[in-house]
Amino acid sequence: FKTTNIVSIPFVNTTFNDFMRTLEARINDHKNTFVVTANPEIVVYADHHPQYQKILKSATYVVPDGIGIIKGAQMLNDPISERITGYDIFCRLLEWGNQNNKSAYFLGAKPEVVFDLRKILTVNYPNLNIVGMQDGYFKNETPIVSTIENHDIDMIFVATGFPFQEEFIEKYRNKNNGLWIGVGGSFDVLAG
Ligand code: UDP
Repeated sequence: FKTTNIVSIPFVNTTFNDFMRTLEARINDHKNTFVVTANPEIVVYADHHPQYQKILKSATYVVPDGIGIIKGAQMLNDPISERITGYDIFCRLLEWGNQNNKSAYFLGAKPEVVFDLRKILTVNYPNLNIVGMQDGYFKNETPIVSTIENHDIDMIFVATGFPFQEEFIEKYRNKNNGLWIGVGGSFDVLAG
């Protein structure tokens, strides 16, 4: 994709549909993929934390979540075609995953949110194979990583908030050749 740099972070500059087609093709091909859904808060944080900035630069794609990124690109005279939010990607992948019998792992949010999310997923996306769900307030990463490592998982959704979700993904993405994406508060939103 064409990219547009904002404070040295290269943002994907394409349409949502175009981006999703590429993402779906990569999932089908079991290509290891790391997507960061970044808003201005993340860009500012990365600017002050070199280690985190390095993680963002190591991602396969950074997408412009947040209208502030679109506005920033306009001011830099390098307009970005479309806003691509983590929540929209999340919902679209659940839909697509349900239609194509894909598997997914869900990590993050409070235990009661995970409980509600599981009910919603089973009712609305019955053909999606839920490999595991784990709330985001765990003490020990080992059993989580071991589950992820030992299953074929098409999509790993990490919703523990930034910067932790991206740090977690960067640390473990080599354990599974699926799609890894940090989706912030998306579990809370879908669980209502
Ligand atoms: N969260 C979590 N573990 C933590 C801290 C937060 O799972 O240790 C979850 C929290 O319950 C919420 C999400 O992470 O569901 C953070 O959502 P937010 O919209 O704040 O995302 P951010 O903008 O921080 O990426």
